Amino acid sequence: MAYVRWSRYLLPTWKEEPAEAEIPSHRLMLRAGLIRKVASGVYEFLPFGYRALKKVERIVREEMDAIGALEMKLPVLQPEELWRRTGRWEDFGPEMFKLTDRKGQGFALGPTHEEIITELAAREISSWRDMPLVLYQIGEKYRDEIRPRFGVMRAREFLMKDAYSFHVTWTSLEETYRDMYIAYSRIFTRCGLVFKAVEAPTGVMGGNISHEFMAIADTGEDEIALCASCGYAANRLVAHTEPPSPPPGEERPMELVATPNVRTVEELVSFLGVNPAQIVKTFLYVGREGAMAVLVRGDQELEETKLFQAKGDPTLRRVDDPEEAERLSGAPFGFLGPIGLSVPIWADEAVRDLPTAVVGANKSGYHYIGAKAGRDFRVDRYLDLHQARDGDPCGHCGTPLRIRKGIEVGQIFQLGTKYSEALGATFLDRDGEEKPIIMGCYGIGVSRILGAVIEQHHDEEGIIWPLEIAPFQVLIAVLRPDIGAQMELAERLAMTLDQQGLEVLLDDRDRSPGEKFHDAKLIGIPVLLVIGPKALKRGVVDAERRRDGAKTTFAAAEEAVVRGVREFLRSELI
Ligand code: ATP
Ligand code: MG
Repeated sequence: MAYVRWSRYLLPTWKEEPAEAEIPSHRLMLRAGLIRKVASGVYEFLPFGYRALKKVERIVREEMDAIGALEMKLPVLQPEELWRRTGRWEDFGPEMFKLTDRKGQGFALGPTHEEIITELAAREISSWRDMPLVLYQIGEKYRDEIRPRFGVMRAREFLMKDAYSFHVTWTSLEETYRDMYIAYSRIFTRCGLVFKAVEAPTGVMGGNISHEFMAIADTGEDEIALCASCGYAANRLVAHTEPPSPPPGEERPMELVATPNVRTVEELVSFLGVNPAQIVKTFLYVGREGAMAVLVRGDQELEETKLFQAKGDPTLRRVDDPEEAERLSGAPFGFLGPIGLSVPIWADEAVRDLPTAVVGANKSGYHYIGAKAGRDFRVDRYLDLHQARDGDPCGHCGTPLRIRKGIEVGQIFQLGTKYSEALGATFLDRDGEEKPIIMGCYGIGVSRILGAVIEQHHDEEGIIWPLEIAPFQVLIAVLRPDIGAQMELAERLAMTLDQQGLEVLLDDRDRSPGEKFHDAKLIGIPVLLVIGPKALKRGVVDAERRRDGAKTTFAAAEEAVVRGVREFLRSELI
């Protein structure tokens, strides 16, 4: 007997809304008995939730296997020494769980596995003949997130599929990257997600080219910029928009003006009567190569990720200590400016086009007016450093971009040789030359997918499972399990459906029909069959489809029910 009886199952449902949950998927995963919290960002998957998780895992595994990736298993415990060699023991920062063994040796609980797998590659790959090679695993990851929240969406222990590829040439990497991109699209489609692949920042992983897969949802923590005209799609943090056009104004000689206690853009606007677009803000940063200054227009926000991407220095940090700022520029915050600074100066493109600008004078209580980039101050590099806003012109075609919210369910990276060089993973090429292996890495948040799916598929009454990841396809509610004939019919149908390859949950609990209907909506199984007096008296089974509430009846005979359920589920796929 492979169907499941609810009376013997661990599927506790809650009537009350859990107070700690802020978004629908988190609330529903608790209420429908999928997960329980053990500690902040640490969850148990109860049997019902685990069934759904396993289905997601299976889809991921099938699609990875289909592109020739090889499944394996890597350790969670990772030696400190390995992470030191790539510099990420520090770069990863406090997000990494660190521990010490009894001999005093440092370890990390793997937040990701580039170090481990590159070491493996260094050992096992020696020749161009050994590649391309794609390895993957599905396993726990540990990250001490600053703000674990939304249940499994941002957890501290979570399930990830991580894959790594090894190549002789960049072309080969690009081919695998494309295969992965397509496999990811298939995975998310099969999970029932509405998603968008977007250009992405590479962050602490490194590399140049990267895409994130974003499930569209208003509750998402990420923002994506989309162009309806040319199809450009990017994480807002790196979204390229045309520099805003310059405000009206004529070139004029620069002039020092006293601006006592006038520091912010708003204060300057009212004190000097200028347009905020005519003001240039100056920020100081310190990194491996020392200090630098960054300029953006007063009506724009600095997008730090763009700066980090261009600089490629994970140690880069904004100077927010007033004393440090004064030491570097000679002036307190509010009066910093590019004139006379000896450090490198980078500026947003829009600064170049300003005919006349207000800048801090690096002297307490003073600003310059009429300043012009190139004439009055040096800019070493112009680049896109401003934050993309809803309605900004697309950097490719000029059409206004739309900003939407998304949940990052996966990310793929062309890493290049960052890890292979750091860890000495080289191979002998055809010509006998020793070269670093070219790598890619590819992650999917397997447990986060569940949250994202429920975020997209629910109503006020509960979850609405997409067919492929539904924990069961059919729920049979027996209204009076104490009446032998009802149970007999229900069990016969459950058995037949099971033999036909459908997964059945039989609600034989000693609960009122009202509660059973309520819970049926809450747990969201695609098809509900009701066995009550009507089934016995009139020989018909009431059926209801969760997605659209469509109702029908089947003759209470095995073949009729199997056929009916199949048909009902088929229209579910459309
Ligand atoms: P985020 O920006 O959301 O913190 P990330 O970019 O750090 O994620 P990656 O290193 O790209 O994450 O990891 C691959 C995938 O693992 C992500 O796309 C996401 O789906 C998932 N993931 C990352 N962090 C978490 C987490 N704390 N809880 C659950 N899933 C996560
Ligand atoms: Mg990511």
